Amino acid sequence: TIYFIDGQFTERDGLKISIDDRGYYFGDGVYEVIKVYGGKLYTAKEHINRLFQSASKIKIAIPYEETQFMEIANELISTNKILDGHIYIQVTRGSSPRTHHFPQPAVTPVVSAYAVSNPRPVAAIENGVSVKTVEDVRWLRCDIKSLNLLGNVLAKQEAHEAGCTEALLHRNGLVMEGSSSNMFGVKNGKVYTHPVTNLILNGITRQVVLALCKDLGISVDEKPFTLDEAFEMDEFFLTSTTSEITPITSIDGSKVGSGQPGPLTVKLQKAFALQIPSFIMG
Ligand code: PLP
Repeated sequence: TIYFIDGQFTERDGLKISIDDRGYYFGDGVYEVIKVYGGKLYTAKEHINRLFQSASKIKIAIPYEETQFMEIANELISTNKILDGHIYIQVTRGSSPRTHHFPQPAVTPVVSAYAVSNPRPVAAIENGVSVKTVEDVRWLRCDIKSLNLLGNVLAKQEAHEAGCTEALLHRNGLVMEGSSSNMFGVKNGKVYTHPVTNLILNGITRQVVLALCKDLGISVDEKPFTLDEAFEMDEFFLTSTTSEITPITSIDGSKVGSGQPGPLTVKLQKAFALQIPSFIMG
């Protein structure tokens, strides 16, 4: 496997990460996950753009251009012969002896990336998954795709221990998102999801789904809904780069609708599958 770090492609043995890396000390960095379908990048520009936005929000100046990230990603795909999988890109503020404030003078950010093969989660996409409600105790800048994922990790673990695939995060009684996904409910043919604020990550898949709803004439309300309302939805689904559109068939053990993936969810899944590179889903 060939990795990318600090401007170079290298075997795993050649990877050197400093103990003083601020990503390691503080989670002081940002990242992206870009899906690869049939050897082709999917919505890569949107992800790279969000990487720059996240970095800028925490005052990291990434020493690369968008086109360089595209080249790095494509090189990782071809040298590692990736068909279905994803690219992980991470940028930390850099390496400097441990102090909370930024290094002065500034150090060069550490940029690393790699590609992995992993098949689409077909069973979950077709059959749906269960979620557990978990209180959202994360910070107030969830719009930043930061390496600081402790709140997300603890929420996912709580869901996992309950035998669920994802945590349904709620704050002040309102549904926010998942620990690594965005959440959508469907009631009487209308799609509901949390609006873009500092309290959620504006998922690229979320944006694709909202565009598909528009194309299909499905009405959408980007308005927070309550946890109580979540239990009353006809359908529920989550979105993320790797999970695509995954139906949610139970919340805290209680069935959503019939307990089967809902018709509008399936319609969106079909429309989604049609626009990914090298259409594979039946
Ligand atoms: N929300 C959170 C907290 C995430 O970590 C992610 C992705 O991992 C998402 C939403 C979904 O975003 P995307 O569709 O861009 O993968």
